[in-house]
Amino acid sequence: MAKKTINDLGDIAGKRVLVRVDFNVPINPKAPTTRDEAVITDDSRIKAAIPTIEALLAKNARVILVSHLGRPDGKVVEGLRLDCVAKRLRELIPQTVVKIDECIGPKAAEAVLQMKPGTVLLLENVRFRSEEELKTDANTKPIKTRFAWQLADSADIYVNDAFGTAHRDHVSTCGIPTLFKGAGRPCVAGLLMEKELKFLGEALEDPAKPFVVVLGGAKVKDKIPLIKNLIGKADKILIGGAMVFTFWKAMDVNIGKSLCEDEMVSEVLDLMKEAKACGTEIVCAIDAIASMPMIKDTKGKFVAPKEVMHCYIDDGIPDGFVGYDVGPATVDLFAEDIVDNPGTALWNGPMGVFEVPIFSDGTSGIGEAMSESCATTIVGGGDSAAAVTQMNYAHFMTFVSTGGGAALEFLEGQPLPGVVVLDEKY
Ligand code: AMP
Repeated sequence: MAKKTINDLGDIAGKRVLVRVDFNVPINPKAPTTRDEAVITDDSRIKAAIPTIEALLAKNARVILVSHLGRPDGKVVEGLRLDCVAKRLRELIPQTVVKIDECIGPKAAEAVLQMKPGTVLLLENVRFRSEEELKTDANTKPIKTRFAWQLADSADIYVNDAFGTAHRDHVSTCGIPTLFKGAGRPCVAGLLMEKELKFLGEALEDPAKPFVVVLGGAKVKDKIPLIKNLIGKADKILIGGAMVFTFWKAMDVNIGKSLCEDEMVSEVLDLMKEAKACGTEIVCAIDAIASMPMIKDTKGKFVAPKEVMHCYIDDGIPDGFVGYDVGPATVDLFAEDIVDNPGTALWNGPMGVFEVPIFSDGTSGIGEAMSESCATTIVGGGDSAAAVTQMNYAHFMTFVSTGGGAALEFLEGQPLPGVVVLDEKY
């Protein structure tokens, strides 16, 4: 069901618009202990929210921004204050951006009252308040409701532009819009949210055909609901990453010491049968790059092996060796279905341990094929989105989702609470 967006709002001049944004940006790895030490290492999430903020400012609205940053677990953590975000916002937009140290309370209420039309107020990290993430039950409901009203009372309109947290039933994603709806106030999607729902939604509901899906990543178990939802919709599902070894095992191929979820082998066999019956072809990687098991250094990073070995599915992976990437024959095979595809190509999950350069060729090979493809190319999911960005392929994709867990749940066909609650278009 299509959701109303900020374009459906009409005249909003002077109105107070509360926008849930996703400013959960990565900050410098050496955990900052003061607000001044926090340095943003990737500002994509801030940039992704700018079109919505600018569209509201262009209509002379008063824009109140709410976000979380990190996991402060309901306590004030100096290094997770949103001052670094305010600083970056001021560099990105010319309008006044005021940042305050609270998200509710008299100072926040006063700051909201003082706002002029066409300006921005950034509230403090909403996860400094334990009420934000409380599970809803009979005991916590009144606490959450009170917090939601305190956050939202002075606003006229609620906008959710934080697709990345739309799978969370939190006060800022669900509590506020629920109250707003009850009070007859509009609750709509921002432009980023609209884009996410359009591209991921169309891929599921009405993809241009042929619809090819590339899946990778570490765990089959995590991807089973996604595969199930794609069976019957996708023409082909191409499988790489560590998860392919559970498929190889199901096909009686030797996998050495590669990652494998033994308890999923029979489920994988059932999936393959189901897919065949529904007209979806599951294609597994046909070769792999393996080495002796990698060890981790004192910082927990893999130490690259000195020697690697190229193994084909016919012989499998020798005992004691671990498959860490798909091989070149797999990249060529998958690329045939991606490059000349006039339909849709959706990619979730890296093809190997792309964080270690010697095992990154499979992932970069798929990135290259997606970049050259004539299909509508969509990358969904945290690690594959990070990989295409890191490898400079992101610009060549039709759409790279900003929502890791949220994108996965959406593609699995699960309703996202932060989306369900928004006003419907018709
Ligand atoms: P996921 O979150 O399930 O999409 O998994 C992403 C992670 O899978 C990345 O950190 C990769 O390093 C890891 N991965 C991909 N292929 C392999 C493999 N063959 N062996 C071990 N880890 C892998």
